Amino acid sequence: MTPVRVLAVASEVYPIIKTGGLADVAGALPIALKAHGVEMRTLMPGYPDVMRLLSGAEEIRRWPDYFGGPGRLLAGARDGLDLFVLDVPHLYERPGNPYVTADGVDWPDNGVRFAALSRIAADIGHGLVPAFVPDVVHAHDWQAGLAPAYLHYDNRPRPGTVMTIHNMAYQGKFSRELVGSIGLPWDSFNVDGVEYFGGISFLKAGLQLADRITTVSPTYAREIQSDEGGMGFGGLLRERASVLSGILNGIDISVWNPHTDPHIAYRFSAEELPFRSANKAALQQRLGLDPRPDALLLGVISRLSWQKGLDLLLKAMPTILGDGMQLALLGSGDAELQDRYQGTARGHPGRIAAVIGYDEALAHLIQAGSDALLVPSRFEPCGLTQLCALRYGAVPIVSRVGGLADTVTDAATGFTFGPVTSENLSAALARASLAFHDKPAWRQLQLAGLATDVSWRNRAGEYATLYRDLVASRRTA
Ligand code: ADP
Repeated sequence: MTPVRVLAVASEVYPIIKTGGLADVAGALPIALKAHGVEMRTLMPGYPDVMRLLSGAEEIRRWPDYFGGPGRLLAGARDGLDLFVLDVPHLYERPGNPYVTADGVDWPDNGVRFAALSRIAADIGHGLVPAFVPDVVHAHDWQAGLAPAYLHYDNRPRPGTVMTIHNMAYQGKFSRELVGSIGLPWDSFNVDGVEYFGGISFLKAGLQLADRITTVSPTYAREIQSDEGGMGFGGLLRERASVLSGILNGIDISVWNPHTDPHIAYRFSAEELPFRSANKAALQQRLGLDPRPDALLLGVISRLSWQKGLDLLLKAMPTILGDGMQLALLGSGDAELQDRYQGTARGHPGRIAAVIGYDEALAHLIQAGSDALLVPSRFEPCGLTQLCALRYGAVPIVSRVGGLADTVTDAATGFTFGPVTSENLSAALARASLAFHDKPAWRQLQLAGLATDVSWRNRAGEYATLYRDLVASRRTA
């Protein structure tokens, strides 16, 4: 196995800082790649949480003026990850969510903040750190989308580039004035470069200029080539179809392990599924739900946004209530959805519980204690909660889109429905309810789920093959 060196560029990395699935992937992939002969280091911004947690940090470079203020590049380690951290206080020293202010609006200088990250990625690509000269620079999502663009326009020998889309909806769009101020040449500002409808899109830059494009499931890779699924980039992706592929995400099966999970009430293995009932009772008690073992307890762990289809679940409430089911929802996001779920919970005490917030420990208990986990997304690049559910014996009920379609098999490991409407969701719930009351059938679904491989092991192998193919193709080009 020829060793390959890869610089990953990510704006969030679990367990250091996380707002969504991107962080999970950025945190797990480098570790899983070790077994495949890939040495990955990850470049991320020096947010306060990162600076606090970084250990053994070594200063590699220092600049008096990096994009408008002093900056440093550090190398360090955390949680088994080798990190490069771009410490530029005037860009990153802000508490809380990495992208938005306390009022929930985007930081007005996000364009500069993430251009700075991509610029340093390109410089590491060119050999800024002699101890780690990558063969490939792997950019994740729009925040890293300019890395392939800088490398392309620098006109120097460069490493291969990969752009991974975790969610097409976030495109990193800014006004054209930004182009000059972030050190991109003006000849990059055209349809074959970074320009997008008169402005600049960091995601488009990556999609247009990276050597390879990946997304996080084969079905999403197909969906984003359509005008609707591509959210403006369908045409571009159809043109670049020959370099686009889908590689499913895995989950960290040591963090998500019902046998050792410190957050759940009773630990269990596949042979001990009846112990789930103790977790169900604990979850019901914690959330004030009626202590009924016979009620089908549905779990939801989700951002509350249009994407996730949770407005459709509100419309399916008559089925849930009429059929004697219970609902335990954990989520945060859209204020109207938060209010509506809290209102529904108030109207149906003992039956519906809504916890608004972000709570890692409760997420684990919901996976261990709910009978079924619901993911009614309108689109879903991969989705991680259904993978955790498969591992915890919670039967997933999911819409048949993106990675959900690739990871849940209808009537075998869970229930799928489509097109994504509240009627079809209700019908899937009714089918699940029938199965739930047929104990052997339900056990069969749970066991098939538990036997599904949701780990990173094989998926990391697909990335390793992609990197090696890319390096080989550039050598012969
Ligand atoms: P997305 O990245 O679109 O938000 P994913 O399913 O890919 O959706 O990943 C979401 C991740 O965030 C999962 O690991 C899930 O458990 C976690 N998560 C989402 N909402 C919450 C919450 N309110 N509390 C705890 N964990 C959450």
